Amino acid sequence: MDYNALSELLFPNIKKTPEEIEAMFPPRQLPEGAKVTRFAPSPTGFVHFGSLFPTMVGERLAHQSGGVFYLRIEDTDAKREVEGADMDIINSYASYGIFFDEGICAGGEKGNYGPYRQSKRAEIYQTYAKKLVEEGKAYPCFCTEEELSAIREEQEALKANPGYYGRWAKYRDADLETVKEKMADGLPFVLRFRSEGNIENKIKFTDLIKGAIEITENDIDHVLLKSDGIPTYHFAHAIDDHLMHTTHVVRGEEWLPSLPFHVQLFRALGFKIPKYLHISQLMKMEGGSKKKLSKRDLGAGLSYYVSEGYPAKSVKEYVMTLLNSNYEEWRAANPKADMNDFAFSIKKMSASGSLFDFDKLNDISKNTIAHMSADEVYDEIVKWAKEYDTELYDLFTRDSEYAKRILSIGRGTPKPRKDLCIWKDVKPYVGLFYDELFKVEAEIPANFDKEDVKKALTMFTETYDEKDDANEWFAKLKVIAEKLGFAPETKLYKKNPDDYKGHVGDISMFIRIALTGKTNSPDMYEVMNILGKERSLSRINNAIANI
Ligand code: GLU
Repeated sequence: MDYNALSELLFPNIKKTPEEIEAMFPPRQLPEGAKVTRFAPSPTGFVHFGSLFPTMVGERLAHQSGGVFYLRIEDTDAKREVEGADMDIINSYASYGIFFDEGICAGGEKGNYGPYRQSKRAEIYQTYAKKLVEEGKAYPCFCTEEELSAIREEQEALKANPGYYGRWAKYRDADLETVKEKMADGLPFVLRFRSEGNIENKIKFTDLIKGAIEITENDIDHVLLKSDGIPTYHFAHAIDDHLMHTTHVVRGEEWLPSLPFHVQLFRALGFKIPKYLHISQLMKMEGGSKKKLSKRDLGAGLSYYVSEGYPAKSVKEYVMTLLNSNYEEWRAANPKADMNDFAFSIKKMSASGSLFDFDKLNDISKNTIAHMSADEVYDEIVKWAKEYDTELYDLFTRDSEYAKRILSIGRGTPKPRKDLCIWKDVKPYVGLFYDELFKVEAEIPANFDKEDVKKALTMFTETYDEKDDANEWFAKLKVIAEKLGFAPETKLYKKNPDDYKGHVGDISMFIRIALTGKTNSPDMYEVMNILGKERSLSRINNAIANI
């Protein structure tokens, strides 16, 4: 077979050589040891929560080493493409504080290794395809859909492995004349890889997360270019990762089965094989067994966390604890440190699948919010509420100082309060501070004598002085307790419960319900300071009137 003639026949319009293309993508000038990583999504319109894992790893590895992290849009499958999906991807990651140094971005593209959209690189792929044909490593296949189904059916009947390989690969050894005839007839063709693999053999491979692995060789003559000349993902990504000088490919483990083919491709093209990190898939517990977190599961889409109001910081904290086994320990020792100060290490990544756990995420989120400053919490809430809760947005922006005072309660102490887990929790939490949201949700338990309750509340209003400090404030509650036959100390009551009607904690509960409408609230002394004397006492007087 005259492969040169075949390559000219198939690609008459390709005039460039791979060498010329290589010259357009010179080696990157980066410090020793710098890693080049990429995120290479297909714009299918759904950003999976799980994609945060490879993205965060890629980002950390690149930026920790002075390297480059870029975004490549893998849009070679027009059937799966969704309009605007690429901007969704960019915006989703931006809201997580993940930015790309190169690639597709809001204003278009940046970087010297583009185009970063595969659909714009057809000529590049075809140049390499032509070279493979010249070297006898790829060939045209004119099989129709019907022929391919017939092959499948026959394979099924014979219980043979499915696929286009060996004796089933009808056009693998077609001669030049046959190809010429088919082309003269205007028949469409795909370009296939001529696999030299054998399923009796295994390829040995070291994945930086999974360690040494062995996978059966690929013997399928996979499609490299579709009949419209557009490459498959497999072919395109090998060329792109080479030309864009990717040093570390970080991606989901669902790509592991394709690895033997990818390795063959890199070798056939004469490319250096990048290092691989295949990240385990995210699992969930269902009916006592582990299952893949699928698209339909609650929390599978990244947008869910945004609309619920999980701070991006919390979600990233959570992902980090799953990604690096020593992260949690580091965070405990450095509660205020920036996440990026943590020395991320590939060695601390687990080879087995992480279990998605909302409780853990919620715990982390409460802790994360508790350690934020009131200003930061305020800014985040306003940003979220603008889109998802306009009532809250209006209340918070009407008087930002007031909102910040509320958010300051218990903040900055060694054991900060953990009332908020998501921004959706904010409105119920701050409602008591806004007359338009204030509701009495709790009742004073019926086992207390109504007259005692009334008296306690009245005495409180009579003795309240806004100049009291927290100790003086509480001392007055004790006096009220004693006067009404309640124990001034809880422990006294516990010792001799029959001697008292209740204890000082009950008096404070009466006031809390009258003032906040709830049995649980932030520190009452602080609440009254923020509400001010007039509003506080008017709420208590209202409660008295309703007893
Ligand atoms: N475009 C592939 C995807 O949609 C990327 C696989 C890779 O990272 O190599 O997941």
